[in-house]
Amino acid sequence: MLRGLNMDRQLLVSSLIDYAGRNHSATEVVATDSTGRVHRTNWTQVHSRARQVAGALKAEGIEQGDRVGTIAWNDHRHLEVYYGITGIGSILHTVNPRLREQQIAWIVNHAEDQIVFVDPDFLPIAEKIASETTSVRSWVVLGEELPTTSLRNAVAYEEWIEESSPIDEWPILDEWSAATLCYTSGTTGNPKGVIQSHRSIVLQTWATCTGDGHDVNSSQSILLAVPMFHVNGWAIPFAAAMSGAKLVLPGPDMSAEALVRQIQDERVTFSAGVPTIWLSVVQYLQESGTDVPSLNRLAVGGAAAPRSLMDTLEDDYGVFVSHVWGMTEMTQGSAGRFTHRVEGLDREEQRSRQAMAGREIYGVELRLIDENGDEVQRDGTTPGELLARGPWVAGSYFGLDDDSTHIPALDGVWLRTGDVATMDREGYISIVDRAKDVIKSGGEWISSIELENAAVGAPGVVEAAAVGLPHDRWGERPLLIVVLEPGKELDADEVLESIKPHVASWWLPNGVVAVEEIPHTGTGKIDKKALREQFKDFEWPE
Ligand code: AMP
Repeated sequence: MLRGLNMDRQLLVSSLIDYAGRNHSATEVVATDSTGRVHRTNWTQVHSRARQVAGALKAEGIEQGDRVGTIAWNDHRHLEVYYGITGIGSILHTVNPRLREQQIAWIVNHAEDQIVFVDPDFLPIAEKIASETTSVRSWVVLGEELPTTSLRNAVAYEEWIEESSPIDEWPILDEWSAATLCYTSGTTGNPKGVIQSHRSIVLQTWATCTGDGHDVNSSQSILLAVPMFHVNGWAIPFAAAMSGAKLVLPGPDMSAEALVRQIQDERVTFSAGVPTIWLSVVQYLQESGTDVPSLNRLAVGGAAAPRSLMDTLEDDYGVFVSHVWGMTEMTQGSAGRFTHRVEGLDREEQRSRQAMAGREIYGVELRLIDENGDEVQRDGTTPGELLARGPWVAGSYFGLDDDSTHIPALDGVWLRTGDVATMDREGYISIVDRAKDVIKSGGEWISSIELENAAVGAPGVVEAAAVGLPHDRWGERPLLIVVLEPGKELDADEVLESIKPHVASWWLPNGVVAVEEIPHTGTGKIDKKALREQFKDFEWPE
């Protein structure tokens, strides 16, 4: 082999913050911390404080390969910690505070976290699990002073970094060394740990910055409405540094009112988050009669975005919705920018493309297989299980030998995503369902996602969930569960009439019920398992 004659420079997370620190002192990072105070900083300061974090970690004896946890909101301190931990070769383990305490303790122990950074808001979690954790040496509370706490070995972040000497230079690591650890939500069985290398973070961050990815660039002001504990904030904390974009970190108040205020105050041009967030933002905009003129694009994913949400955002507020699909195992796998050909289609056809879950991005190859493991055609209609592979797709899970998620299918090892999808010749995918949520009626499949999306367009319906429940004749039939606008009474016929034009007639739910609230998982997805349990004794109407 004749080797390329390029310089041997490793792809490292530290290079991102070095770049931003050198070039973007004039670009703001605006954060609301857990006390509600707005903190204005910039990339050069984030860079220098990340080096202080690194110095303090080293002084605590943290070494390359050690896991360091965070239980924190999106703010400037969490961002500094992101870079401080990864920069010295220790592993950033972001913990989802919305999980059950037992699960959090299990994850911290499985990861063997040595130090955990915790927001004052989440101190009660840390206090409850502290006696069960086996590896944690100290808890660093992300604030100026240490609140009263039963935790032993707790220090206040600001005092802790103040006392340390910042490191001069980041060590040169092997780009294959581990950088981040994130656990899947584990709705069935224990959560599984996904480790991303420095190389994979840099590559996926580049993909995030491309025009057909999230087009993150230096002209943007980005509101990070996806938590930094959900798949590394979809790589946006890294992409903002790579491109020198302004970053707005909302802290604990994720209410629609607070998000809209920040979009207005910080002239936010782009944001990203799960559909539930944007459903509540749209409801707030409509009720308050206010507007978000600076905002021109949203990346919506993590769960299916209803078509009506996209229509309202674009028609009434001029916000283009880029529908994206991905998972902890790969961060982003698709993005919903239009190809040249789709740009030429009429508006209605464009919108139906937009409602699909985006298009395969370079770096994540996608395929479909049927139950026999044979490849399914990319014809846009035949469903199959979605497989993925690529340089930032997880090849195995942390500390797990028995791994049935990866199968040697087709021409090599692919990740089984557990999603059922269709795919067309241009690489646009449509997620039919999670394999375990698909409703199996008389041997045929009904997509709960399509029913939900159609239902959200019905008068007065704010949110909808469809689940399959046992049925004597058909095996399973769909039950539709809706949350209605305040003051609206349920009219099941009206809801069904409104769904009818959008789905096959035999898909129509056999029952419709209204609830005050639909349960969500820790990452904002509809908790179908909880709903199936809640309605297990439901009796179908005659
Ligand atoms: P997580 O690892 O928590 O991000 O969850 C990943 C899962 O969320 C995927 O396997 C899908 O089931 C679901 N998901 C993500 N994006 C979408 C989308 N755009 N449409 C439908 N489901 C999605």
